[in-house]
Amino acid sequence: MGYRWPTDTVFTQRLLTVEQERCDFCQRRLQICDHRFHHIHTLEGPVAIVCKLAHCPQRHCPGGHRTLSPLAETQLTLPHWTIGWDVFCWLGHRRFARHWSIPQLRLELRDTYQITLSEDAVADYVQRYQVLVAARQQDAQALAEAYQQFDTLILTIDGLQPEKGHETLYVVRELRAKRVWFAEPLLSSTSAEIQRLVAKAKQWAEQLGKPVVLWMSDKQEAFLQAIAAEFPEVPHRYCQNHFVRDVAKPVLEADSHAKVTMRKKVRGLRAIERDMLAQQRVAAAVETATAVETTAAVETATAVETTAAVETAAVALGEAEHVVLDYCAAVRGILNDDHGGPLQPPGLRMAAALTEVRESLQRNLDAKKGGARTSRCSGSPAVSTVAWMP
Ligand SMILES: [Zn+2]
Repeated sequence: MGYRWPTDTVFTQRLLTVEQERCDFCQRRLQICDHRFHHIHTLEGPVAIVCKLAHCPQRHCPGGHRTLSPLAETQLTLPHWTIGWDVFCWLGHRRFARHWSIPQLRLELRDTYQITLSEDAVADYVQRYQVLVAARQQDAQALAEAYQQFDTLILTIDGLQPEKGHETLYVVRELRAKRVWFAEPLLSSTSAEIQRLVAKAKQWAEQLGKPVVLWMSDKQEAFLQAIAAEFPEVPHRYCQNHFVRDVAKPVLEADSHAKVTMRKKVRGLRAIERDMLAQQRVAAAVETATAVETTAAVETATAVETTAAVETAAVALGEAEHVVLDYCAAVRGILNDDHGGPLQPPGLRMAAALTEVRESLQRNLDAKKGGARTSRCSGSPAVSTVAWMP
């Protein structure tokens, strides 16, 4: 990666020398033969690494033709990199743990650390980071440590299609440790290709020395065959997620049909609302007229009382209308609520909510029968109180 440093860049110098002092072959003291400069960005600022290269002074020794460089350099960065490990980890962590975009990473590096990298360079480091993570995931020793606490393994395989037209990515996961073991893009999902992956999983399990007690998948034909061939004794169960998804389809269809039926039954909200608003306008007009007449006729203390009484009546009328309008709003909200997956079908929630509204209306009607207060709702084409459940 070619990188152009601004001429006024101030570098902190790190001088590194070859760790071993003597030649591997003849034990002579090594001689410094050259210097190599490697400039990198770190989170603490630009660093100029100066590596003192060394070789054996004896021309006829095999060590005389080998130039040694300080190993410590790799603790700061890798050859040809423009950034140190710290920046590299900063990038990788934000990309994969926090899902920052490449442009965002680039700008944040520039603003916070004055590190200028092109988007291509950032993308390239992110890709390298991915490779390192994958290598670590597959490292036998790391894997053995991760599985120390488990006695058995449960494996799954599934094909993921990242985008239409792209090859399917086949992922083998282990469920005890909830760990992706490996993933491979396969152009063809032939039984032979799939079986190769399943055989690889078998190899891994054998390396770990733990028995596979269960396989899970969506039971595609290729999976069935490959797993039966490589793991003849191991049960192969239908993946719960796929199972629920498949069951969910007819459930959601029935649910959607039920919703349509309920919406057909619960109608006329707009008419009720219009009616209420019209009544409110009439009431307001009457109130103003009465108030003006009363004030003009009697200019005594009783006028105040009368006005107060009229106002109270107007407020009461308004309240009743507000209650009706609130019911309408609630019912409209219920009819428009489409949330909920197959485990909480929206239609069932709708039916439950409408039932609550019906019970609430019924309670009001019952209360009215006992009380003296007259309500204007009774004249409205009220929402049917028949059960909603189809
Ligand atoms: Zn030598």
